[in-house]
Amino acid sequence: MSGPLRIRAAVLRRMGGPLTVEGLLLEPPRAGEVLVRVAAAGVCHSDLHLAEGHLGTERQPIVLGHEGAGVVEATGEGVTHVRPGDRVGFCFVPACGACGQCRAGRTNLCETAGSHNARGVLGDGTTRLRFPDGGEVKHFLSVACFAERCVVPAAAAIPVPDRLPLWQAALVGCSVVTGIGAVRNAARVRVGDSVAVIGCGGVGVQVVAGAALAGAGRIVAVDRDPAKLELARSHGATDVVQAGDRAVHDVRKLTAGGADHAIEVVGRPETIRQAFAMIREGGIAVVVGIAPRGVDVPIPALDFISDKTLRGCFYGSGNVLAEMPSVVGMVASGRLRVSDVVSDVIGLDGVEEAFQRLRDGRGARSLVVLDSEAAGGP
Ligand SMILES: [Zn+2]
Ligand SMILES: [Zn+2]
Repeated sequence: MSGPLRIRAAVLRRMGGPLTVEGLLLEPPRAGEVLVRVAAAGVCHSDLHLAEGHLGTERQPIVLGHEGAGVVEATGEGVTHVRPGDRVGFCFVPACGACGQCRAGRTNLCETAGSHNARGVLGDGTTRLRFPDGGEVKHFLSVACFAERCVVPAAAAIPVPDRLPLWQAALVGCSVVTGIGAVRNAARVRVGDSVAVIGCGGVGVQVVAGAALAGAGRIVAVDRDPAKLELARSHGATDVVQAGDRAVHDVRKLTAGGADHAIEVVGRPETIRQAFAMIREGGIAVVVGIAPRGVDVPIPALDFISDKTLRGCFYGSGNVLAEMPSVVGMVASGRLRVSDVVSDVIGLDGVEEAFQRLRDGRGARSLVVLDSEAAGGP
């Protein structure tokens, strides 16, 4: 392959502005990179956070999308783990394996990938995306899959078994890995534990499912949307509680004085405070939700004398590369269900409306289908 490809992509030209579907030029993959024809992509709250300027204002213009799957079309020099024709899902922290965090096993916090992602560039510090007039366009989280095709670092392309439809594989790389990792690596839920889950959207419902797989006793789902509470129930929640001022009281009552774990998947000061208030003495509250830059959360400090823990969780707090194959396997075998999490199926031009649904808290996950044949559904 020689010259750049012409692709259509959803571009954010300025923070706070709308996404526009535009024709862009995509350069071929360089050494250590992979060109993927995107089949489907999930719309995540992090895409909206970036678009609203909540994650900093330095990365525009940029192609959004960080959860998706597709088919490899070409590989750059030195790529050996995938070949053209292989089906892959995306991992948005392509860990380098060599930095201090990677060597310590915390590949979700890879310093190299983190620095590239913060700048919207690929591994050599440049981008493969251009406007037709030559202006540079950035890649969101090394993936940029709200596009017909994308070039990603090799470590961002994870092989997917044939039996898993790509439209389902598309949801694994962010929401499923994050949800399962929060249970397994951050909260470390044990058989019989009680778990409260605040926010039951695309990620939250996978936290519920992960807690059920981990053998949690009581799983209390908290949300303001009755449809999401029903979805949580069908994924293993034993109890549901309406979000709001009484949620802490209700959860504490259902868990006989406080949950062993509360996992917050909203990213608001009120719900983070509530998560901390819902846990028993010695319990652990995990914050998965992302709050905008500059937001503080006041916590009753005296609670720390009762051995309570409040901790963060980024991308499942684990080694995604090592864990993703087993997670993909559980989805492929049906032990983890993603098929009913998709609430809206859209095209590239529907992402802006999907953002509005996220703002309103409507629907669990919008799925952008770019190639329905390759996606295999829904
Ligand atoms: Zn995400
Ligand atoms: Zn690293």
